[in-house]
Amino acid sequence: MSPVRTSVIGARLGNCVPSSREGLATLQREAKRREAAVRVILPKPPSPSLGVLLEAIEACTEPVPCRDPDPEYRSLWTSEERWAQSLAADACRSCPVLLLCRKAGRGEVAGVWGGQHRIRRAAA
Ligand code: SF4
Repeated sequence: MSPVRTSVIGARLGNCVPSSREGLATLQREAKRREAAVRVILPKPPSPSLGVLLEAIEACTEPVPCRDPDPEYRSLWTSEERWAQSLAADACRSCPVLLLCRKAGRGEVAGVWGGQHRIRRAAA
């Protein structure tokens, strides 16, 4: 999720991400008061398939590779390095929720999802 930047209201108006309906209303009032154009970026809601994936991971009795206790190993899934992405994608092959993850990762621009890194997802 994008960082919340409603605190910039007093300083300047620009691209702002409201943290709530009240935050959005405050931004809109402030923009009207200053007669300034404010581009409001609403946080992307989690996709239904992401919720299904997370439930499946929680219910999983088999190991999910990207949930390994070693943080260094887990970082392979979020690395920008091609070699790390390839290792992560290979490890995904043994994952019990591979297909759910691949579906949830469609459209994601970063990370390895369902054995696919960004370039491979774009080609699919
Ligand atoms: S398929 Fe998805 S949940 Fe499974 S290890 Fe890969 S990234 Fe993690």
